[in-house]
Amino acid sequence: MEMTRDRYETLITNAEIQARVDAIASEITTCYSGTVPIMMPLLRGAFVFAADLARKLDLDVEVDFLGASSYGGATETSGEIRMTLDSSSPLSGRHVLIVEDIVDTGLTLGYIQKLIRSRGVASLRTAVLLDKQCRRKSQVDIDWAGFTIPDRFVFGYGLDGPGGLFRNLPDIMALPAE
Ligand code: 5GP
Repeated sequence: MEMTRDRYETLITNAEIQARVDAIASEITTCYSGTVPIMMPLLRGAFVFAADLARKLDLDVEVDFLGASSYGGATETSGEIRMTLDSSSPLSGRHVLIVEDIVDTGLTLGYIQKLIRSRGVASLRTAVLLDKQCRRKSQVDIDWAGFTIPDRFVFGYGLDGPGGLFRNLPDIMALPAE
């Protein structure tokens, strides 16, 4: 099947995203004033959000990466999480900021938060761009959320779309509503 961008709906424009990321960055800057946190984007989907967020922070930060993927179909997580990349920094006593693209059931983020907490961090906070609250199965702590979205499969701005494509689109797109 040919993948064409024209069939998809723009849910959130890049301008709207940038305005929200500005606001979140300002709150995060205030929160971590006087400390040097480690930002930990979750690959792969969070790479664009994290890159924009990092450059809007008026703070000295370190950046390290985590990779996780869940087994399952293209649009549904199975809840079985596999780490594809672990952090290379010692986290004991550090202030860690997890940066995630989207929280759906919460199973992935819950797994990651538990893992990072077990490493003796001084604090753990989480910023997510998109929150599908209506789909939550597992309670997770979210300190900053960009947008609450309905139960639609979304992509662009770092998130993968049909055929593993479209992470490079500037806006958040959605498959046509059924
Ligand atoms: P959860 O474990 O919260 O159910 O799912 C989190 C992961 O599922 C996200 O990190 C993301 O990789 C994937 N995911 C959930 N919903 C969507 C979606 O609408 N679009 C895309 N591209 N990925 C999603």
